[in-house]
Amino acid sequence: RYWEKKVLKSATPKAEPGITVLVTGAAGFVGTHVSLALKRRGDGVLGLDNFNKYYATSLKRARQQILERSGVFIVEGDINDTELLKKLFETVFITHVMHLAAQAGVRYAMQNPRSYVDSNIAGFVNLLEVCKSVNPQPVIVWASSSSVYGLNSKVPFSEKDRTDQPASLYAATKKAGEAIAHTYNHIYGLSITGLRFFTVYGPWGRPDMAYFFFTKNIMKGKEIGIFETADRKSVARDFTYIDDIVKGCLAALDTAKKSTGSGGKKRGEAQFRLYNLGNTSPVPVAKLVSILEKVLKVKAKKKVLPLPRNGDVEFTHANISLAQRDLGYKPTVDLETGIKKFVRWYLSYHSSSRKKTSS
Ligand code: NAD
Repeated sequence: RYWEKKVLKSATPKAEPGITVLVTGAAGFVGTHVSLALKRRGDGVLGLDNFNKYYATSLKRARQQILERSGVFIVEGDINDTELLKKLFETVFITHVMHLAAQAGVRYAMQNPRSYVDSNIAGFVNLLEVCKSVNPQPVIVWASSSSVYGLNSKVPFSEKDRTDQPASLYAATKKAGEAIAHTYNHIYGLSITGLRFFTVYGPWGRPDMAYFFFTKNIMKGKEIGIFETADRKSVARDFTYIDDIVKGCLAALDTAKKSTGSGGKKRGEAQFRLYNLGNTSPVPVAKLVSILEKVLKVKAKKKVLPLPRNGDVEFTHANISLAQRDLGYKPTVDLETGIKKFVRWYLSYHSSSRKKTSS
């Protein structure tokens, strides 16, 4: 096949003993950053992405170019394609899977429920089915979400808190993913770590997320809506900078114990872990807007609206003591510093894509 040579080159570790990681969702926001970080430290990286049209594919293609320039090749395909996954495992000795491919976003689920079931449930099961049958089984780290805490109102959210009240179909599929992952660990001895990310932001981010479309609308002089709760408090999020999330992902890959496989090994030996990866300091969305105004040096046209029942929760706040203890995870970037970095990227990305379209 045309891609086999490129795949092998991209997936050969530079450093010994390097791991080789299959990164699903590699053309996505988090996938791009994780792939670059792995490559930078000398690991083999192989990307997989179906370039879905949830948001501008031009942004995913631009990320792909950055990755290819760094020697990371992305195979274009779907995690539901069993034959393709098997072929990748046959072609490359994959030691780890960083599973980030998913249908993201909470509101989109109201019109497109099927894509959540297809990618976040069926696709995940398909990937685990392939992983359970290869020998040796790869270590799996995957993205769950803070959304699993749903209507839980006990803050900060800790891994022991209830997660049985999801507020969106997205959250429900992530919660289902955690249950599915547990069964594959229990029955087949797969080593699986789920990471509950809290509102990740930064350069190359997702255009559907508030910090991104607020920036776009403020720059265009368009009105932005700020949601508030019934007791008139601004909705708040535990915004977490992408570099902190990447460090958490790499630490989860590095600290995971190998799979035991189901063949005769004692059950429960392989690892099943769940960790919050957040920033531990929730910020009201109204404050995010004032940071954006300061950094962009533009006044926003604001409209305060009651939070609609469309999948968004009122607040998120991570307790990260477990990730701190086991992964050495420690977020270091505050919101204003991170937003400055995002805005710098945003302005240069948009001026270079404008130049391309006008030339
Ligand atoms: P993203 O949409 O930018 O990246 C996901 C990528 O997966 C996309 O490039 C998409 O094309 C690809 N993809 C989707 N379905 C696929 C399929 N069936 N087969 C192959 N590729 C597929 O999203 P992101 O922000 O980078 O999120 C990465 C992961 O982290 C996701 O699992 C997401 O649910 C989770 N997460 C993200 C955040 C956040 O704030 N960004 C928060 C919590 C959890």
